[in-house]
Amino acid sequence: MGFSTDAIHAGQQPDPVTGAVITPIYQTSTYKQEELGKHKGYEYGRTHNLTRASMEANIACLEKGKYGIAFASGLAATHALLSLVKAGDHIICSNNVYGGTYRLFELIMKDYGIDFSWVNTSDLSNIEKAIKPNTKMVYLETPTNPMLNLTDLAGASEICKKNNLIGVCDNTFMSPYFQNPLVLGCDIVLHSSTKYLNGHSDVIGGILVTNDEKIHNRLRYIQNATGGVPSPFDCWLVLRSTKTLAVRMERHQKNAIELAEYLNESGIAKKIYYPGLSDHPQHELAKNQMRGFGGMISVDVGETGIAKKILKNVKVFTLGESLGGVESLISHPASMTHASVPKEEREKFGLTDSLIRFSVGIEDIEDLIADIQKSMK
Ligand SMILES: *Cc1c(COP(=O)(O)O)cnc(C)c1O
Repeated sequence: MGFSTDAIHAGQQPDPVTGAVITPIYQTSTYKQEELGKHKGYEYGRTHNLTRASMEANIACLEKGKYGIAFASGLAATHALLSLVKAGDHIICSNNVYGGTYRLFELIMKDYGIDFSWVNTSDLSNIEKAIKPNTKMVYLETPTNPMLNLTDLAGASEICKKNNLIGVCDNTFMSPYFQNPLVLGCDIVLHSSTKYLNGHSDVIGGILVTNDEKIHNRLRYIQNATGGVPSPFDCWLVLRSTKTLAVRMERHQKNAIELAEYLNESGIAKKIYYPGLSDHPQHELAKNQMRGFGGMISVDVGETGIAKKILKNVKVFTLGESLGGVESLISHPASMTHASVPKEEREKFGLTDSLIRFSVGIEDIEDLIADIQKSMK
């Protein structure tokens, strides 16, 4: 089936009791057992929940995967993922991943004996060079936040296969509508469903998707054994939201392209980072491995004062962290998401104090452009 048909129907059947078209919120912690050892396959809410199972099946289908394993946040999913390795193992990571991922790996998991190498995975030879005898996993994020650098997922997956490494991709920025890492050879795809999958800025959630039965069995075991599961209501909200993922992503992208053009033509952008622009250094790769370019734009406005003025004066854009919601957000990576990265380090890859990041929402583009125009006065 096509993406939108799957998005609306996959993982869901009308409720067998009432015929309700929408999967109910099974807000229950336990289930009645008929007699010892005889039940309907549902024993305890952490282990089994039909609202969660429907949402997991739905997103797995959109990612062209067999299995979805959901968690209470993107970082809970990332943490569970690390249970696939053990003390003494080594992981190679993209050096510009989500800040919370960096914190979890470097400031927490490292103390449990897991070793990490941070490399620029945009150049695949850096992955090969970083492989050690104890390397078990390659953790990629593409495009990255906020510089929107890409990693060649098919090329990276080939290296993983050759060296028997688990290839993981954080696909939060593109959503399954624009990119399917499993199809490109990755073993596991990760999402913060907080972002585009839910898209309405009212849920914190995460999910892992895989086609590998062995990995699935282990992750399913970890999901139950460590217990970081999402609530039935949050699962229901995400399941409701993926129905409109295709139309939302189309609109996010359309607005992003128009805003990028305006920022360029008006001269506000001294430098603009968006994979959909032909001058993006990896525009060709973007066209090959993605079906679109998404709704995230970063712009260097040249002067910190101008950045501050825009951030302070906007009225339709909301100054805030996060991304991927229907409402447009604006942020200042240097002082918000990337404040912990030393200034000299940040500036090496273009993350200056005059860089602004836009999560372009699905409002009327005329209003978004007018908002930026007025903010400059
Ligand atoms: C937000 C985010 C995460 C973490 O997800 P939470 O739901 O906030 O725990 C991971 N990766 C990326 C790319 C993100 O944007």
